[in-house]
Amino acid sequence: MKIKPFILLVLLISVSAFQSCSNDKNNVKQNEVKKQQWAIVVHGGAGPMTKETMEPGLDSVYRAGLKQAIDKGKEVLSGGGSALDAVEATIRTLEDNPMFNAGKGAVFTHEGRNELDAAIMDGSNLAAGAVACVTDIKNPITAARCVMTRSEHVLLTGAGASQFAKEQGLEIVPPSYFYTERRFNELQEILKKEKFGTVGCCALDSKGNLAAGTSTGGMPNKRYNRVGDAPIIGAGTYANNHTCAVSATGHGEFFIRWTVAHDISALMEYKGLSLKSASELVVNDKLVKAGGSGGLISVDKEGNISMPFNSKGMFRAFATADGKEGVYIYGEEGKN
Ligand code: ASP
Repeated sequence: MKIKPFILLVLLISVSAFQSCSNDKNNVKQNEVKKQQWAIVVHGGAGPMTKETMEPGLDSVYRAGLKQAIDKGKEVLSGGGSALDAVEATIRTLEDNPMFNAGKGAVFTHEGRNELDAAIMDGSNLAAGAVACVTDIKNPITAARCVMTRSEHVLLTGAGASQFAKEQGLEIVPPSYFYTERRFNELQEILKKEKFGTVGCCALDSKGNLAAGTSTGGMPNKRYNRVGDAPIIGAGTYANNHTCAVSATGHGEFFIRWTVAHDISALMEYKGLSLKSASELVVNDKLVKAGGSGGLISVDKEGNISMPFNSKGMFRAFATADGKEGVYIYGEEGKN
């Protein structure tokens, strides 16, 4: 069949008009996606700290550390970077900061060593990676990410994890990197009071992807290669684009047994609870009844943030695309 030139012209105009309409629609959609709120939240551990009991001068040191970390995450997310990149970069700054119980500032085991645990999870596909009981990897969170992306496993431990990290070209340090006499004495004193100094980060990026990560030296004075909740997916760390991202800090044995991070996701998925209700229920009801002290940070797919804890304080900070941010330590802060 022959199409007359006039009809062809009309057809072409309407097709291109349709295309440009659909492009417009796409543009609007893209803009909407772009405008979607990114959000980031970090913790530096929960514990018995209060304004009255905080060592003089340390308040501002902790706040500066949290601010530095959240700024790093903000930089990644506001530049259109992924939630995973934000989580890893943020946690690396906290691992390099000797004030927090992760990386450089890791607490000491009963035998006077440092054994580190970390995990990261990608909420877009439920990929996860973790390392536990490692003694010579400078940034365990990066090792965890390598396990996720470059191995077929989820959790590697001890010497095997170190060997894997070496093969991946990650920075390996002598175990003494985690030890200085001054830090040993100073941190033992501080950490005796502020028991949980684990660090964690959860982020939502502008594409709607969630990610969570946690890194820790574990519980001070631990023995027998004890592993806590931080590297256990679903206990101390979890992310799922359909619900939320969670990173916990506290008495790890309870967080493992109550599968805390996944429980929050499950309460949202199966019971339809909001992020806030689910997080509060787990931390301030279930864990309190169980006797498990600590707290967590969480963010949902809409960018809502929750930071509940049942201890006196929790080092925490957050920032969102619409300019809201805060750095808090004590229980009474950030409640409006
Ligand atoms: N949850 C960590 C653990 O049990 C400790 C902490 O949060 O500081 O290993």
